Amino acid sequence: MIFVTSWDDGHPLDERLGDLLDRFGLKASLFVPVRNSEGRPVMATDALRRLDGRFEIGSHTLDHVPLIGLTREECLHQVVEGKVGLEQQLGHAVPGFCYPRGKWNESVRDMVREAGCSYGRTVENFRLDIGADRFSQPVTMQVYPHNKQVLVRNYMRQGRLISRFRVFSAGLWSKDWLDFASRLFDADLGETGVVHVWGHSWEIEEQGLWHKLEDLFAMVASRQPRFCTIGELITDVFKS
Ligand SMILES: [Zn+2]
Repeated sequence: MIFVTSWDDGHPLDERLGDLLDRFGLKASLFVPVRNSEGRPVMATDALRRLDGRFEIGSHTLDHVPLIGLTREECLHQVVEGKVGLEQQLGHAVPGFCYPRGKWNESVRDMVREAGCSYGRTVENFRLDIGADRFSQPVTMQVYPHNKQVLVRNYMRQGRLISRFRVFSAGLWSKDWLDFASRLFDADLGETGVVHVWGHSWEIEEQGLWHKLEDLFAMVASRQPRFCTIGELITDVFKS
């Protein structure tokens, strides 16, 4: 089994998250916009540099805006300037990308590829694979106390209902997200099964979930899966 975890929005609390990930020896991909038009703070360059190298840093647009509905120029501007802005702060290429609020379509995806990104992470959940398209990378579950109606809505909204059903039903019948993650680790997923857990450090704070997140990381570390960043997973699988 492969364990992947990714965290969005580059909030200053990502440093606390980074320390927790380090404590359990977990790799992670962090997606950071240059600014956040929703008003939440974004890490300054020095904080970003402290996390760089320890974790994969990927871009998340210039202003953290959903890319659907923008003109082609606006969309390219958001993607390119988000990527270049991070590259200037870090002093190296930043190929990873994540769609704000998981909003993407074919033309947005093509622009992300045109901008020189190597993959795009979505929020299509209940998946245990990485699919055939590096620009629509799915996830398995979010670290957030969603109620059952939200889980059903997220399941129905994304398509591929048959192949996602088994994981969706495990999520639906779990006591909470930690129980859901444990059930996934109890299932026999083979060497290539990917459990991809994502979240926001600012939501961990808002929801008071730090202790529970520590329990998740401790459980994951004790199961000794293979740890990968999304970039490593993509490079490994999509070699050509
Ligand atoms: Zn985001």
